Amino acid sequence: MAMQQDEHRAAASQVGQAEQAGQAAQRAYTAHPAPAGDPALHAGKGEPCAARTLLVKHADMLVTMDGARREIRDGGLYVEGNRIVAVGATNELPAEADEVLDLRGHIVMPGLVNTHHHMYQSLTRAVPAAQNAELFGWLTSLYRVWANLSPEMIEVSTLTAMAELLLSGCTTSSDHLYLYPNGSRLDDSIAAARRIGMRFHASRGSMSVGQKDGGLPPDAVVEREDAILADTQRVIETYHDDGRYAMLRVVVAPCSPFSVSRDLMRESAKLARHYGVSLHTHLAENVNDVAYSREKFGMTPAQYAEDLGWVGHDVWHAHCVQLDDAGIALFARTGTGVAHCPCSNMRLASGIAPVGRMRRAGVPVGLGVDGSASNDGAQMVAEARQALLLARVGFGPDAMTAREALEIATLGGARVLGRNDIGALAPGMAADFVAFDLRQPLFAGALHDPVAALVFCAPSQVALSVIDGRVVVKDGVLQTVELGPVIERHNRLAAELATAAG
Ligand SMILES: [Zn+2]
Repeated sequence: MAMQQDEHRAAASQVGQAEQAGQAAQRAYTAHPAPAGDPALHAGKGEPCAARTLLVKHADMLVTMDGARREIRDGGLYVEGNRIVAVGATNELPAEADEVLDLRGHIVMPGLVNTHHHMYQSLTRAVPAAQNAELFGWLTSLYRVWANLSPEMIEVSTLTAMAELLLSGCTTSSDHLYLYPNGSRLDDSIAAARRIGMRFHASRGSMSVGQKDGGLPPDAVVEREDAILADTQRVIETYHDDGRYAMLRVVVAPCSPFSVSRDLMRESAKLARHYGVSLHTHLAENVNDVAYSREKFGMTPAQYAEDLGWVGHDVWHAHCVQLDDAGIALFARTGTGVAHCPCSNMRLASGIAPVGRMRRAGVPVGLGVDGSASNDGAQMVAEARQALLLARVGFGPDAMTAREALEIATLGGARVLGRNDIGALAPGMAADFVAFDLRQPLFAGALHDPVAALVFCAPSQVALSVIDGRVVVKDGVLQTVELGPVIERHNRLAAELATAAG
């Protein structure tokens, strides 16, 4: 098994933070308790391991994103419990497992990682008043609608948004929930993630500076800062799991520099660092955002972030379309991450983020679909394709390759979220992977390079998705939640929300 261990090391060093891997692996748990009495599983090895096993074989192509970026023809992988133990050509893998998936005609890749979203906005897609506005006008139109959100709306919209993500290849997502009207809580979106089986980074967002204090949001949707900090502490203590293969992590995430105070930004950073959780917010989204920062704080957004302690490996900022050279250097020096959201940036005419310059400087960059009210689709492969296309519009035909776009959407996202257990298929990594059916018409003619075709041909739906060793999508159908009634309920709630706003 020497080769596998080498691969594991290569993958771990690729995604960084390899030093955590050893300790964290000790805490690995078994997602699926094995059925009682299955001694055949590891007969002869003398290991006290009875995890359920899963074998994927005969994939036309398996994209590993490991240290060597191997792309394996007739590939497969072998999973014990919730982690991958072997990756390679089918004939190098064990021949049997509790569950065997023959993926002839498919391409398999690591599950995509979404680093920025506002899932509740699935209730307010394509709202007429916000269809043609830039960021601040768009927000102003929608805040009064969102003021009527309920706990039920949060849970159902999160389920819907996660279903859309899962079906489009995403296996890990963050969500930035920053308003909590009418008794809504972060617990409502966490309940949805658990029900559907998605790996989740739940951001406890917040807004505290309403219009009467010079902020953008109406006073009805802002919270008191002491209440924000107390509730953030509660959700960290209740839910946050810092172990390897964690299915749920909590993130501290004031909404943006124009909706919370300097004090709350600082106190949030302190709280997050006390518990060792990540920090997330919006930064330098467009030129008005930069102008606001200069006028209100006398600093660029990057300088403001540094002043507040909002830089470091444990911080990632959404957008950064207008991050200047000094900001890029700062982010690179400190390991501060960026969630690149190309569709949203186009939708709101925010501009083109300098992703190539950021990556060359060493800034960790992941991909985000952003909220469903500013995209308005939330499909991860489509987002990777838009990243490639937008980079080329801004910076030329060689600004981003298809494989780079996939790397940003997998390894890039993992690094931004501070994880070294997802984003690549290698021994020791979480068993999070997806498969696309190459026999669909949209791939026809591109099978000489199915990896590039994943981005260029824009497949919209996975055939298979496995998260934490559990089959969540099979034959293109979500296995964990019956989707029809959820969408029906979602549409009813969206209509109620629109009616309540008048
Ligand atoms: Zn956003």
